[in-house]
Amino acid sequence: MTERLYDADSYLTEFKCKVVSLYSNDDNIYIETDRTAFFPEGGGQTSDIGELGEVHVENVQIIDGKILHFVKNSVENAEKLKNQEVLCGKIDFKKRFSDMQQHSGEHIFSGIVHSLYGYNNVGFHLGSEIVTLDFDGELNEDDICKVENLVNKTIWDNIEIRVLFPTVDELKALTYRSKIEIEGQVRIVEIPGIDVCACCAPHVNRTGEIGIVRVVNFERYKGGTRVSILCGERALYDLRHKLKQNRLVSNLTSSKQDETAAAVERLKNENEKLKYDIVGLTRELLSLKSESIKADRRIIIFDSKLQGKLLQDFAISLMDKVTEFAACFCGENGSYRYCIVSKQVNLQPLCKALNTAFSGRGGGKPEIVQGSLAGSEEAIRNFLSQLAISN
Ligand SMILES: [Zn+2]
Repeated sequence: MTERLYDADSYLTEFKCKVVSLYSNDDNIYIETDRTAFFPEGGGQTSDIGELGEVHVENVQIIDGKILHFVKNSVENAEKLKNQEVLCGKIDFKKRFSDMQQHSGEHIFSGIVHSLYGYNNVGFHLGSEIVTLDFDGELNEDDICKVENLVNKTIWDNIEIRVLFPTVDELKALTYRSKIEIEGQVRIVEIPGIDVCACCAPHVNRTGEIGIVRVVNFERYKGGTRVSILCGERALYDLRHKLKQNRLVSNLTSSKQDETAAAVERLKNENEKLKYDIVGLTRELLSLKSESIKADRRIIIFDSKLQGKLLQDFAISLMDKVTEFAACFCGENGSYRYCIVSKQVNLQPLCKALNTAFSGRGGGKPEIVQGSLAGSEEAIRNFLSQLAISN
């Protein structure tokens, strides 16, 4: 059984260990050692990474009760590990400390939610970015603010975080979260006055080291609430990025930094009004254009302004000017939507021929057909001008 050095000391970054077994498959070399400071993946948290001897440890997992260090299987790595009985391990403490900040922050958050509302944390994920906590009860915005304030107050109180290894009798007398039947020694993480929880992960020594906890999102989830938080350095980087975004929006909208939402809403409303005005003006313009078009046997129009329903409306406005058909197209780069109308000609065979010639799709009634196709304006014009109509 590998001695878990991280159990007693979260700040141990370098250690010596003996290789117990070493084997490989196509992807990885797996190293089992007599002791390790690498925290393996588990309980919703990713594993430590770092170096073992001269090779990089990419992942650490508990498989069949053994802690295995995963190293990429390559000729170089195999050579570096050959005949090595004792290895020096070094964990990536930047990642470890960030994970400790997130995990200790999560305990404080869950402990406070539990004591205020009685909800349990039923799902926890600590990846490389956001940390998510799932509670089995609903929290509203006021609840979230209240909890966030208390969590940060706990951080500023700089309380010692204690790791306990209680005896069976001591454990029986203890009230704590995450109570599941575990064989062997149960490890308890206690934040006095805030939380007591069974947990195997490394934590910071004092709450002050977490720095800050920010809720970045919360939503209803499976009848409860999913809360996304960021702690410490991750919260700092997130705030920096989002404040920069807000500063840019403030500059773009010439508004104060704490009034950007109102400024964007004003712009959005203005934009919607302008869009509405443009549709009205386009209709007027197309009406004038339609009036100016002379009556003919066939009329073929290409116009990029015939967006949405305007295509059909414009085609219908030409219906009385033609003895055969009026065909209208809207699009660009050889890709067009079409609408063709007629009072005299059955357009269904014409539509079929057009689709066949230009990889088109669409159809309709004898007097109106619509669809889309691909081809050059010139080729489409030629095709429709020369098309023989047999009624
Ligand atoms: Zn935990």
